[in-house]
Amino acid sequence: MLAQKPIIMLNNQFLKIHEMVSRMDAQRPSGADAKKDGLPPARKGKKSKVHYNPVIFHAWCKSCGICIEFCPKKVIGKDDMGAPLVERPDDCIGCRFCELHCPDFAITIKERKGEGDAL
Ligand code: SF4
Ligand code: SF4
Repeated sequence: MLAQKPIIMLNNQFLKIHEMVSRMDAQRPSGADAKKDGLPPARKGKKSKVHYNPVIFHAWCKSCGICIEFCPKKVIGKDDMGAPLVERPDDCIGCRFCELHCPDFAITIKERKGEGDAL
C-alpha cells in the first residue's frame, strides 16, 4: 500500500496539468484577437477526436498494476487474476502514461486508423 502513494500523487499532478492545459486551450483567443496579442489563433472548425487502442502484451506483463494506477481516465481495470484489462478503450486520450511507466514494455498505445480498429 505504501508504494502506491507516490504513484497516486504523480497521477494527481498529471491530472492538474491536463486540466490546466485544457482550460488554457479553451480560453485561447481566436482570429484577430489572437493576432493582436501575438498568440497562435485557436483551431477553427470541429475538432476531430483521435481514438486510441491500448494493447497489452500479456506474455511480458507481470501484473504490477502501475498502468492501472497511472491511467488518468481509468481505461484499464483488473481481471479476476489481477492482470490489467482494457475496459474502456473509447476513453483513452493517448497520453501514453501507461506505456511510459510500464517496467516491462508490455503496453503500447496504438492510434486507431478507422472504425474497424476499435477494440
Ligand atoms: S494512454 Fe493514457 S488514457 Fe490511454 S490507457 Fe494509457 S494512461 Fe490511460
Ligand atoms: S505496467 Fe506493464 S507490467 Fe505492470 S500491469 Fe501494466 S502492462 Fe503489466
